[in-house]
Amino acid sequence: MSTFTELHLDERILEALHAEGYRTPTPVQAETIPALMNGRDVLGIAQTGTGKTAAFALPILHHLAAEKPANGRPIRALMLTPTRELAAQIGDRLRVYGRHLPLYSTVIFGGVGQSPQVKALHRGVDMLVATPGRLLDLHEQGHVDLSEVQHFVLDEADRMLDMGFSKDVDRILRLMPERRQNLMFSATMPKAIGSLANDMLYQPVSVDISPEAPTTDRIEQYVSFVRKQDKRELLIDLLEGQMVSCGIVFTRTKHGANRLAKQLEKVGIPADSIHGDKSQTARTRALERFRNGEVFVLVATDIASRGIDVEDITHVFNFDLPNEPEVYIHRIGRTARAGREGLAYAFCDESESGYLVGIQRLLGHDIEVLEDQPYHFEKARPKPGQKPGRVKGSPVGGPSRRGTGRGRDMRRYNRGGQKRREQQQRSNKSPGQGRKPNNRSQRGQRSDQPNRPSGGRPPQPNQRRGKQQGRSNASNRRSSNRSHRSNRRQPRRDDRS
Ligand code: AMP
Repeated sequence: MSTFTELHLDERILEALHAEGYRTPTPVQAETIPALMNGRDVLGIAQTGTGKTAAFALPILHHLAAEKPANGRPIRALMLTPTRELAAQIGDRLRVYGRHLPLYSTVIFGGVGQSPQVKALHRGVDMLVATPGRLLDLHEQGHVDLSEVQHFVLDEADRMLDMGFSKDVDRILRLMPERRQNLMFSATMPKAIGSLANDMLYQPVSVDISPEAPTTDRIEQYVSFVRKQDKRELLIDLLEGQMVSCGIVFTRTKHGANRLAKQLEKVGIPADSIHGDKSQTARTRALERFRNGEVFVLVATDIASRGIDVEDITHVFNFDLPNEPEVYIHRIGRTARAGREGLAYAFCDESESGYLVGIQRLLGHDIEVLEDQPYHFEKARPKPGQKPGRVKGSPVGGPSRRGTGRGRDMRRYNRGGQKRREQQQRSNKSPGQGRKPNNRSQRGQRSDQPNRPSGGRPPQPNQRRGKQQGRSNASNRRSSNRSHRSNRRQPRRDDRS
């Protein structure tokens, strides 16, 4: 599909696109628009930035402009998004693409007063862009009628579920007529999205614009076999030994991300977390602090990490191995952007060895093992002939080792922790109150070995060392300021992301 004209869209829409400077449809538009024009449901795997808003907005505008409702101006299209920013963006695009059409739209989301939104709804709108909570609130108050919706878009479906909106989405689905056109966009396809798509979509056309797997050539990868309970110490050693100033740590759960960021701060490593339980404002703030160097480490869950567009990330740590091998590739692709080099460390505990098998199979080679590190745990290494996937009998997220026998490695781990506590007591500071200048170098010495694997590569991929050392005093000062702590929310029971 080389031009918009070939898509048979309303002339007035084409005029608006022309004024916007859109000449050719993006791939997601070229595939989605014809299907929607033909009245089909669509399941789209695409991220923000691919042009997906126009992909659903243009055919909906076209259909709505073509039919005049029998009476009044009922809501005929509903676009549901997880965040207010996204809702506002879609609302803005609808106005731009539909500027020559006699159609009205409005945007409703929480966190602001409802009365302007209620007024707009009462004036009558053809298209409504909404976040789930506020939509249900206004529906309960009798301000929203969804009984004439003909086109429904569920945007960023994975993020929607990640943010805990699953029940709200179910309720909203029941408020609309059964006969309608449905479109679901998601950047990833976890199982929950698959079953939601099954329930919601009728014989959908699938459009997959998932980004190409990033090249891993420039990324130096290592894996450490380690007990689950030693991962944190290993991480701290690596972070300090390499003086990481721009690193992402991936955890499996939101609660785990919060806890780890807090623990890093306690030992004087400026860190913040980003995950689906955090408000959009808190995420934006965490990202901003990461971008401007105020925090060196961002602890993230996969879905929340999607909005992280920071070019000079030097290190990626897979604190928990992902159960889907492709996710590993996307995670490590966060580093080595824009032609840079990057380092990726994976921590594999006993329960995750099958995940490592899957990852190595996808990569087509084994990842170099950091054996020479104080927490090395041989039993976590995959067994010869081991199958990819979950280790049978281990709970998701790995077995709890509490109460099990602890070997020599564990005693060494305890001594390490004890040593730090003693150092902290000697420095007569509370645990989070920053490190003594020599503290970092002591830890750096201890962690030299894991940082300098056999290949003998320099510790910093981007030679950021000077910048980091320059920062360390400031970081000590900063780390005494705990006011930014992000762990305000209680983790939900369903803490996976
Ligand atoms: P989206 O993924 O919908 O957020 O779109 C990303 C950006 O691409 C937005 O700034 C759009 O204005 C722009 N865009 C969408 N479609 C096209 C197109 N066909 N040609 C040029 N720009 C586009």
